[in-house]
Amino acid sequence: MKYIMALDSGTSSVRCILFDREGKTAALSQREITQHYPKPGWVEHDAEEIWQAQLSAARQAMKKLGISWRELAAIGITNQRETTILWDRKTGQAIGPAIVWQCRRTADMTERLRAEHPESAELFRKKTGLLLDPYFSGTKIRWILDHTEGARERAERGELCFGTVDSWLIYKLTKGRVHVTDYSNASRTLLFNINTLSWDRELCDFLEIPMALLPEARPSSFLYGKSEPEFFGGEVPIAGAAGDQQAALFGQTCFLEGEAKNTYGTGCFMLMNTGERPIDSKNGLLTTIAWGIDGKVNYALEGSVYVAGAAIQWLRDELRILDQSPDSEYFATRVSDTNGCYVVPAFTGLGAPFWDPYARGAITGLTRGVNKYHIIRATLESLAFQSNDVLRAMEMDSGIHLSSLRVDGGACRNDFLMQFQADICGSPVRRPLCVETTALGAAYLAGLAVSFWESREEVKRSWGIDREFHPKMTEEERGRQIRGWNKAVSSCFGWAKDEEDGQKGG
Ligand code: ADP
Repeated sequence: MKYIMALDSGTSSVRCILFDREGKTAALSQREITQHYPKPGWVEHDAEEIWQAQLSAARQAMKKLGISWRELAAIGITNQRETTILWDRKTGQAIGPAIVWQCRRTADMTERLRAEHPESAELFRKKTGLLLDPYFSGTKIRWILDHTEGARERAERGELCFGTVDSWLIYKLTKGRVHVTDYSNASRTLLFNINTLSWDRELCDFLEIPMALLPEARPSSFLYGKSEPEFFGGEVPIAGAAGDQQAALFGQTCFLEGEAKNTYGTGCFMLMNTGERPIDSKNGLLTTIAWGIDGKVNYALEGSVYVAGAAIQWLRDELRILDQSPDSEYFATRVSDTNGCYVVPAFTGLGAPFWDPYARGAITGLTRGVNKYHIIRATLESLAFQSNDVLRAMEMDSGIHLSSLRVDGGACRNDFLMQFQADICGSPVRRPLCVETTALGAAYLAGLAVSFWESREEVKRSWGIDREFHPKMTEEERGRQIRGWNKAVSSCFGWAKDEEDGQKGG
């Protein structure tokens, strides 16, 4: 057997990648997923479409490579997290649309619950590592039960199943024989106690969710079952599952405490492996299960930057000083520094570790000599400064020093940005050869469960680095730059609040 099949069920598309033993992509096939926006702020997918698209992508990838099921050692799954599906346990049919993680339909419900039970914030944080927020699955399940006729009674009788997308795909692949999820996905539901690794009765009661709905929670590298022969011609073990961000952390081989990955997309998504203990964040970061493997569980701290690549898009689309995002690198390197200028793209407020929804963006330190190259450079640097703020918060929470930062996502191609990130963090930045880290992580988890790869050390040996960026900046210069950034950020605090107060007053 030569390949691992990774099913990467994302928000905008689903993909199947067949990886060989060296972790190289042997074939890739992709299908778009239709986005449904039935009301402002609502986002839905058709669960059946996700399954059919995933199956068709998988078959297409096998066809491209001209292989049969006999050459597949295992299937690994990674998925958009928190997206919620309820289906009929007997027929396997979804009882309504999949409610996507971005959907805000439960915002009012969440606000009401928070106001009526102020003590719940602490309860959820302690048990799940999360905030009581519409983003996670819990309130979405409650919404479906409250708004679908007969659903609550059927759920109580055990006639319905809940699952995130991993769970749904495994159920479909096994034709209803297996109803499971992995710990990393379970840890995004608001119902799973990340300390005891079990569904929590108190939390389920709080959200009025019958426990009969819930899948069995299992490690992320584990033989969940085998696919029905009708799909690929024979039975293939389904042996890995993890939420997309956690899978990317695994695909980046951040197996050890202190290793972290940052995905530079529209926003930035950072996860730091904190080893075998969950760290309670004092800086508003999320605590989550990274994965369960070999009888052990690894935890992670998770944080994000709202505006990252989006700031480069702003240079391109609003300021129009760029034609294409990648050109930012060339322009930034036409000058040797930002000439004292800082760009803080707090367009929608500031997240971790500042948590100021009223902050707004600013360009500071302007003098007569600042030109467009300086502004482009300062905008790129803001991605690194913001990521550094989140990483420092992770270090403060965990007491663990960042040993290295692995990078992926569209903007990780920017060498100037990566070098500056290394300089500002004072840690090496490693860019992998295979930037399909999410799918690769799912493949690793599955491959390790069936001994396609013997150990994580073997996996690590096959993992190739495209380029490593070492910090070159002096301590003194780093300190000076960060002080300047902090000053620029503090000038943004509370900006829109003054405005609101002013409007109220006047
Ligand atoms: P997403 O998955 O969030 O849509 P991608 O991972 O595709 O994002 O990354 C695209 C983002 O990265 C865009 O915001 C784009 O402006 C930015 N980007 C892409 N390439 C570069 C580059 N070479 N330099 C700077 N920014 C870039």
